[in-house]
Amino acid sequence: TAIVSLRGLRKSYGVGTPVETEVLHGIDIELAEGEFCALIGPSGSGKSTLLNLIGLLERPTSGDLAIAGSETAGLKEQALTVLRGRHIGFVFQFHHLLPAFTALENVMMPSIIEQGVATADAEAISRDLLLRVGLKGHEHKKANQLSGGQQQRVAIARALSRSPRLILADEPTGNLDTHTADDIFALLREFNRERGSACLIVTHDPRLAARCDRRIELVDGRVAHVSSA
Ligand code: ADP
Ligand code: ADP
Repeated sequence: TAIVSLRGLRKSYGVGTPVETEVLHGIDIELAEGEFCALIGPSGSGKSTLLNLIGLLERPTSGDLAIAGSETAGLKEQALTVLRGRHIGFVFQFHHLLPAFTALENVMMPSIIEQGVATADAEAISRDLLLRVGLKGHEHKKANQLSGGQQQRVAIARALSRSPRLILADEPTGNLDTHTADDIFALLREFNRERGSACLIVTHDPRLAARCDRRIELVDGRVAHVSSA
């Protein structure tokens, strides 16, 4: 079964204005449960836009988009939020941690706020995840006191705290040195194998793309090429 199913997906910006521009011109993609897939292509080809659509952060102009079998076209904002919270974890280059909160608080918050998990349970799960991403001893540091690599580890722990079936990662290693980038990538791969979370990872790094199960290449808002293993 597919965790993501796209049919004829189009996205325009500035609809109804003189500068209306279509940036995605009919995308057809299926992502299988547990698949580890790279999204590649030149700057401006539409990768971030596509990720935002799949993450239900923006709406397509037309076409079908289903997440875990749920068609999203007719859904209201609140239903999209529920679907997003239930199935999707995000890891972005600028990880949007809350800077004044600790690493632990950043990881705990989504499950408490979005899923109503009891604080004690959220804390236990979050401490375990921080241990797994190599941040034992850093639980009570404020996010803005951590290095870039450490902040990205917190972001991964936060994305995984709700055991999502789908992880969307937009250049998660983009601002990191090669060694740290490899570590972060390896963590995503480890959780993918262990928990079966599907991952869609935007990357400009051909070495990392080569280690994915499949590569989908966008050029000028179209799928230009797909390659497996
Ligand atoms: P990539 O992630 O591959 O670099 P993007 O999805 O960021 O590509 O951008 C694809 C195209 O859409 C670009 O031409 C960009 O300028 C345009 N674009 C992205 N976001 C917006 C927006 N909010 N308003 C107008 N144009 C946008
Ligand atoms: P990494 O290789 O993980 O990016 P860095 O070399 O950037 O690590 O950082 C090394 C150490 O410096 C880390 O333990 C981190 O906590 C600390 N550090 C980095 N940036 C800051 C900062 N802005 N404020 C406080 N401590 C920092």
